[in-house]
Amino acid sequence: MNPVVPVPPECFDPACSRCPRLVDFLAGVRARHVEYHAAPVPPFGDPEARFLIVGLAPGMHGANASGRPFTGDHAGILLYRMLYEMGFGSAPESVSRDDGLTLRDCRITNAVKCLPPENKPLTREIQACNDYLARELALLAAGSVVLALGTIAHNAVLRALGLRQSAHRFGHGHEHVLECGLVLVDSYHCSRYNTQTGRLTEPMFRAVFEQARRCLDSP
Ligand code: SF4
Repeated sequence: MNPVVPVPPECFDPACSRCPRLVDFLAGVRARHVEYHAAPVPPFGDPEARFLIVGLAPGMHGANASGRPFTGDHAGILLYRMLYEMGFGSAPESVSRDDGLTLRDCRITNAVKCLPPENKPLTREIQACNDYLARELALLAAGSVVLALGTIAHNAVLRALGLRQSAHRFGHGHEHVLECGLVLVDSYHCSRYNTQTGRLTEPMFRAVFEQARRCLDSP
């Protein structure tokens, strides 16, 4: 279901070097952690998915280490459990790139494909990576749902679709029906900080997944 190359190559370049600051940073990370992926992290999931989840960027000891979005650190625990509960995932945990997990009708990607220092990409880096996201969004059929995890992902999706932020404000649980035929649903990011401070609770996160499911299932 999820082949080794999950999306067409124009949506992802494993050797991309558009962002010199991130390329340098990754070289340093690779030197300190030789076992880490420490390179652009590809989208993961069903190439024909109607449900696309967009995160911010790989985490140092998560996706940057494992090479799979939201895998290896706290941020993925709730996400993959929710995907399993809602019927998108074949298992409740994502352990590593070769754990056999598959996603049905769902794909996960990041607005920025490379690890940024302190988890903070610069605006120019979000912009540089935006056309990969635009090409990935273009793969989605009308009626598909995009779940943006956090404001940066939300704004990156709008930018990739050529839409104004002022017309579609981020808000947890907000649902934006877009002219292009997609539905954008917002959620707070499932980061350790947000889940441990209670900004994002499990019932809140489950509610946005149920919302996304309803959108997918409605005509
Ligand atoms: S963040 Fe995106 S655009 Fe920048 S180097 Fe990585 S893959 Fe390329």
